[in-house]
Amino acid sequence: MTHTVHPTSAHRPARTVLISGASIAGPALALWLHRYGFEPTVVERADELRAGGYKVDLRGTAVDVCRRMGIMDEVRAHSTDMQTGSYVDENNRTVGEMPAEIFGGRTGDDDEIMRGDLARILYERTRDDVEYLFGDSISSLAEDEDGVLVTFENSAPRRFDLVVGADGMHSHTRRLVFGDAQRFRRHLGAYISIFTAPNDLNLDRHEAYHALPNKLVCAYSSRGEQKAKNMFVFASPAEIPYDHRDVAAQKSILTNAFSQDRSWEIPRLLTNAESADDFYFDSISLIEMDRWSKGRIVLLGDAAHCTSPASGQGTGLALIGAYTLAGELAAAEGDFEKAFAAYEHHMRPGVEHTQAFAQKFVGEMTMDSKWKIKLRLLMLRSLPKMPWRNFIAKKITEDVQKMAHIVPIKEYREYREYVEDAAGPARCAA
Ligand SMILES: Cc1cc2nc3c(=O)[nH]c(=O)nc-3n(C[C@H](O)[C@H](O)[C@H](O)COP(=O)(O)OP(=O)(O)OC[C@H]3O[C@@H](n4cnc5c(N)ncnc54)[C@H](O)[C@@H]3O)c2cc1C
Repeated sequence: MTHTVHPTSAHRPARTVLISGASIAGPALALWLHRYGFEPTVVERADELRAGGYKVDLRGTAVDVCRRMGIMDEVRAHSTDMQTGSYVDENNRTVGEMPAEIFGGRTGDDDEIMRGDLARILYERTRDDVEYLFGDSISSLAEDEDGVLVTFENSAPRRFDLVVGADGMHSHTRRLVFGDAQRFRRHLGAYISIFTAPNDLNLDRHEAYHALPNKLVCAYSSRGEQKAKNMFVFASPAEIPYDHRDVAAQKSILTNAFSQDRSWEIPRLLTNAESADDFYFDSISLIEMDRWSKGRIVLLGDAAHCTSPASGQGTGLALIGAYTLAGELAAAEGDFEKAFAAYEHHMRPGVEHTQAFAQKFVGEMTMDSKWKIKLRLLMLRSLPKMPWRNFIAKKITEDVQKMAHIVPIKEYREYREYVEDAAGPARCAA
């Protein structure tokens, strides 16, 4: 790719924005940019909106952003409505149970939704106003004084004022603009896999966890779901080489990692991976970059700063980032350098705090000894009988709640004007 950064100060305001990636960050940004009068186009490599993924928490500031997007009613309508979470022993006996809210560190208006449902809500909210190019990908980016010339794998070349990489942890945009992906990715020593499976355990809005040294297995079923989700996590300090687009290879890595484990329902759950058509597998990793933009190209969500599934905040940060980036672009009236700097300045401290949490928490997901597991189970079993159980439950959620509010919502005049111009506050309140 040719990428030269050009001076920008005396330019006409940016209007057309190409966004790479139609999961969470991409469509959320498109929604905000359209509201502020930009012309966003979203290109997604998959042929259609990708289904699947885990349930994702929306807490604190992210809930506020969802309200401002006007999607909170729909989020609630698709809430997982999880009731309880438990740890089970090798014979499927419950050894400790907690309300799902405490398991997820949620309070007040916080909610939880399947990633695929949230992606669909955002897509349906934007598809009439925003151009989507499915089954395509950026081939090259050439920046000049007036914009970026983009060539695609399938579509004809086009010019855009700005380009946003919202294409996830393995961001293609990041690779084109900043180079070698390995430089920015920090493997946290574990792998995670999630997929849809038959609900053989008859779980109803309940999640069951089974811990082994260096491994964690989970099955759950959320509201209205006939099927269950199975999740496998295993520690692997060394990185396992594989092509992140080669699903068959990923399935066999997972099967090998658990092939000796016979306890609980592991063999049965493992066979479900074979037939899963929404199989998700990835390293639990962070993306750490010195800066998130170069010239007219900026990164958003996991592409910029993946905080990993161990943080439980990746989706929330993607939504807050989209709100902030669009707000800054609108406020800067086209001065994208100013906007990109303000967006990064606002997001970075919260992102770094969240990444530090994820590094610590990944060890809690894959406890490395039988003793640690025993202690965790003992604590869970004793908790309901403890006189100070409410205090302990509060402590469990405290760290998560701190993170959920660590990036404050920024007020943009443009957002207020949108609220006033539209049908009044009712349109934006959920
Ligand atoms: C199918 C799927 C399942 C997931 N499951 C989980 C999960 O179970 N647990 C969890 O913690 N996180 C999961 N994630 C990641 C989670 O969605 C993100 O951490 C978070 O929501 C931030 O979203 P994002 O939009 O920044 O990135 P992502 O959600 O990763 O989305 C990136 C998007 O970019 C698209 N893309 C990739 N390359 C290109 C390209 N060259 N051109 C155009 N588009 C491209 C991808 O197809 C995807 O739609 C999943 C992501 C996906 C796509």
